[in-house]
Amino acid sequence: MHEGTAESCAGLAGLLAGGDVVVLSGAGLSTESGIPDYRGPSGALVRTSPMTYQTFTGDPLARRRYWARSFLGWRRMAQTRPNAGHRAVAQLQRQGLVTGVVTQNVDGLHQAGGADRVVELHGSLAKVICLGCGDLTSRTELDRRMAWANPRFDARVTALNPDGDVDLSDEEIDRFRMVECSACAGDTLKPDVVFFGETVPADRVQQCFAMVEKARLLLVLGSSLTVMSGRRFVIRAAKLGIPVVIVNQGPTRGDTYAALSIDAPLGVVLPELVRLTAVPPAVAVPPVAVGPVGAGSPVTA
Ligand SMILES: [Zn+2]
Repeated sequence: MHEGTAESCAGLAGLLAGGDVVVLSGAGLSTESGIPDYRGPSGALVRTSPMTYQTFTGDPLARRRYWARSFLGWRRMAQTRPNAGHRAVAQLQRQGLVTGVVTQNVDGLHQAGGADRVVELHGSLAKVICLGCGDLTSRTELDRRMAWANPRFDARVTALNPDGDVDLSDEEIDRFRMVECSACAGDTLKPDVVFFGETVPADRVQQCFAMVEKARLLLVLGSSLTVMSGRRFVIRAAKLGIPVVIVNQGPTRGDTYAALSIDAPLGVVLPELVRLTAVPPAVAVPPVAVGPVGAGSPVTA
């Protein structure tokens, strides 16, 4: 580890030791799990320009295109696993230092890594909502229904595009058959994530503000804070005199509010923080006297 980074980690560990830390995480935390940072929730499965809420709701063909791509992208998404950074956040929770997590990620990897009290600011790709009747279902179930309606669609297209992240031709999209809502038979199923051009539900925003306002420290992990959706929590914390610490690779739009910024990989910094803040065992174990190496003498306590 870089000497300056080690020093910053030690400083941050000292700040974390006081507890009541709220984490605000972004795409940078999941890149080490192989999820590219497309800078926005709806971009998570699509390499080309992200779908806006207006296009998605206003254009049936755009919806079909989205779901055809998403059907393929889900295969890869479902295989992603939490990384050392996610596991470290969960461990900091178990150590009683992190009280809650606000994440801008829609991949569910915080929870998969063992964290709880996670608020998914931009929703979750694991859920699907019907815009017609509000019915909420699991993405896994929708995947089963889409697979049944589109036999061999994935095998054929994935063979053409081995990385699974595909630009489908109009002809291929024409062939994809989107399923209807199983509750109302409407054709406006939408992943339960906040699209560009859509606002985060007000009650969810309030829940996050309440968490941040009660924190002793706001720890930003892997977010460039480009969008106001996340940056507003940093601004609120700073206004209330709650120190903000940012760990991110590269500059962020919150740096001016930060008491400390660490520019280093999260997979390095977070496990180091766990190590530095680990509580020693409550009962000291007496030193064990060991006989000469190779002498075969019994170990005496
Ligand atoms: Zn419905």
